[in-house]
Amino acid sequence: MNAHTRIHSLSFDVEEHFQVSAFESPMRRRHWDQFESRVERNTHRIMELLAVRGMRATFFVLGWVAERYPALVRDIADGGHEVASHGYAHQLVTSQTPAEFREDVRRAKGILEGILGRPVYGYRAPSFTITRETLWALPVLVEEGYCYDSSVFPVLHDRYGLPSANPHVHQLLTDSGLLWEVPPSTVNVLGLRVPIAGGGYFRLYPYSLLRSFLRKLEGEGVPLVMYLHPWELDPEQPRMEGPLLSRFRHYLNLHRAEARLRSLLEDFAFAPIREVFGPIDEACRGRSPVDAPSGGALRTSKHASTVVN
Ligand SMILES: [Zn+2]
Repeated sequence: MNAHTRIHSLSFDVEEHFQVSAFESPMRRRHWDQFESRVERNTHRIMELLAVRGMRATFFVLGWVAERYPALVRDIADGGHEVASHGYAHQLVTSQTPAEFREDVRRAKGILEGILGRPVYGYRAPSFTITRETLWALPVLVEEGYCYDSSVFPVLHDRYGLPSANPHVHQLLTDSGLLWEVPPSTVNVLGLRVPIAGGGYFRLYPYSLLRSFLRKLEGEGVPLVMYLHPWELDPEQPRMEGPLLSRFRHYLNLHRAEARLRSLLEDFAFAPIREVFGPIDEACRGRSPVDAPSGGALRTSKHASTVVN
């Protein structure tokens, strides 16, 4: 890495392996407390891998997890990472009413802020389910004190996605005020917007192909927005019953994910979302006078400010 290395953003949605939307069922949800918890161990493993490279990331922590493991939330923050919100109960936004959504994002923010003693500004919806049908969620996030969202995936998918959405980091004017949107990275291949940001895609493509896509974006001066989940680095996790497609997506190449993350951390430099996109950090600081600077020079991203629309 040299002084001119571009810094990208890396994030983790901190949830248990049994909470993923692909295996969602009311029956399983009722038994969440009876499954073996693996999230603390898996999240600490990620922090170890990041520490080896001297890198930090954003962790979107589920309120349900934070409530049970407050020490994990403190450990994430103490490691210099950014703590953000993944909502409370991992209900798809597309299955909630606006009132239920407001309660969910308020509860999660309150729990995280209660543990940390400082504001939390970022939000990512379960399974990126802010879609054309749930755009009403964006002003609710502003009203609840969030300053950026990373839930609108500009791709076509059976469960989420808004193919026509702006694929770059940009500022949105909602009915309730300004909100920054941080879409997961995609590349344009022959006119098709292809997701390369992480999760199942990260495990599906051969690493050399993924890296060439990421280098292409980097060459265009676009900071990457990548994401993974702690359970993706846990090939030993107990197997869930569920539809064939869900099992394929969830269990594909889990045994390769850790080595692949190491390669990613060797090939690219990462930091938390707020640090990579300076204007977002400024907007967050502008929200609250009690949000003391965390120290250190924050990078400003020329790209982010030029794509504001
Ligand atoms: Zn999730």
